[in-house]
Amino acid sequence: MNIITPVHACCAHHFEPDHLDATVSSLFTASGVDGVYGRSGAYESAVEALAALISRHRPDGAEVYRFPPVMPRASLEKQGYLQSFPNLIGAVSTLTGSEREISRSAAKHEAGGDWTEDLKPSDLVLAPAACYPIYPIAAARGIVPADGYVFDVAADCFRHEPSRQVDRFQSFRMREYVRIGTPAQIQAFRDPWVERAKGIADAIGLSYSVDVANDPFFGRVGAMMANQQREDALKFELLVPVRSAESPTACMSFNYHKEHFGEVWGLHNDAGELMHTGCVAFGMDRLAVALFVTHGAKISDWPASVRAALNL
Ligand code: ATP
Ligand code: ZN
Repeated sequence: MNIITPVHACCAHHFEPDHLDATVSSLFTASGVDGVYGRSGAYESAVEALAALISRHRPDGAEVYRFPPVMPRASLEKQGYLQSFPNLIGAVSTLTGSEREISRSAAKHEAGGDWTEDLKPSDLVLAPAACYPIYPIAAARGIVPADGYVFDVAADCFRHEPSRQVDRFQSFRMREYVRIGTPAQIQAFRDPWVERAKGIADAIGLSYSVDVANDPFFGRVGAMMANQQREDALKFELLVPVRSAESPTACMSFNYHKEHFGEVWGLHNDAGELMHTGCVAFGMDRLAVALFVTHGAKISDWPASVRAALNL
């Protein structure tokens, strides 16, 4: 079924996202690249309403940060992303040099050549998760206070996982509540959040299950890390049937990173203890898609209770 209409109907390249129905086709406009879409006004109003609903659950004392879609390449390198998810990285590269050199590179395109061979990596990568920039910010403040930290962060994220599936984008919005503190503080943060998240899903009429999960660690060593992560129950996901009931979609995740980020960035408390971290992540675009798939293309037709919960 051809659902998302190509921007240029004349292009040989057609966009036929799998598992899309007419509901979803009204929300997105193809860009020409899989997993990257223009978004309709109705869709955006749902994303904004979700963001406001999540804000109403903001933990007491949470400090708000909003990050750009790019972050320092050095940070990603330092935290081990190249070992864990090299396949997902998107890095910013630019044309540098004199005006002459840049003109020569740019002119290659019109001459039928490849201008991209002159691109040089910049000091930026596309942010693959909203929480990554917060750990060095916290570390730069020095000793972590006894109560630890709670942050409310968000960013446009990129992951190089081109797909035509309606629940997997290359560019998508992520919102997170991040906790930095002792293992007991992280536990006391994450466990109630699983229940709170179920309450949010109930309020907006999504059916769901919560299950232990793993990150998509890369390669053979990665498979071992994924197994260990599951065994230690470090990651849970709230899964909503979007494409199918058999393979439900992770719309939120509840993550305990143990001492990983504390070690990388040198996060310690007054007693010299290494700090642990955890986060609850909301996939804003997946949640929005789940709403439309569950309740229909027209927000005015959604159940009154759902619209009330979202102030829509
Ligand atoms: P998956 O296993 O489904 O790829 P993940 O375990 O890599 O997800 P996290 O790293 O926990 O996901 O990211 C937090 C949240 O961001 C996810 O629960 C999901 O809602 C959202 N998310 C992750 N990848 C994508 C994507 N490619 N498109 C849309 N949303 C995404
Ligand atoms: Zn996170």
